[in-house]
Amino acid sequence: MGCYSSSPRSLGEFMKMNITRWQPDTCKCIIEYEWDGDADPTTRTHSVVNTIPCEFHTKHSNHEEVFEDVKAENTRKNVVINELNKEVDWEYDDKRELKIDLSSLSEAEKIDARDKLSRHEKVKEWQKS
Ligand SMILES: [Zn+2]
Repeated sequence: MGCYSSSPRSLGEFMKMNITRWQPDTCKCIIEYEWDGDADPTTRTHSVVNTIPCEFHTKHSNHEEVFEDVKAENTRKNVVINELNKEVDWEYDDKRELKIDLSSLSEAEKIDARDKLSRHEKVKEWQKS
């Protein structure tokens, strides 16, 4: 007679959870989050299990806050870079303001980029806050 000390069912449930380590390109934070591999990728939730904050994000009191702040900075950068649709240099300064080097753009491209960004839903949202 076999004797099974652990239930195969609970082991199976454990195996579905995945941990991903994310190092954003906007700062030096390291964020580890857990997600359910069986859930629909478009709706599944990511829960932060650990963060190693960079010098700019140590002010937060928990991992979730670090993640939200880093995610917001990363999204902001992505939106702007996508709209510019050009290779540009960018950086977040010490005040965490996004600086973008537009010297590779022509005057017309700069006007066009400014115009597109001013109509962007996300950018409108940021200007309100
Ligand atoms: Zn950071």
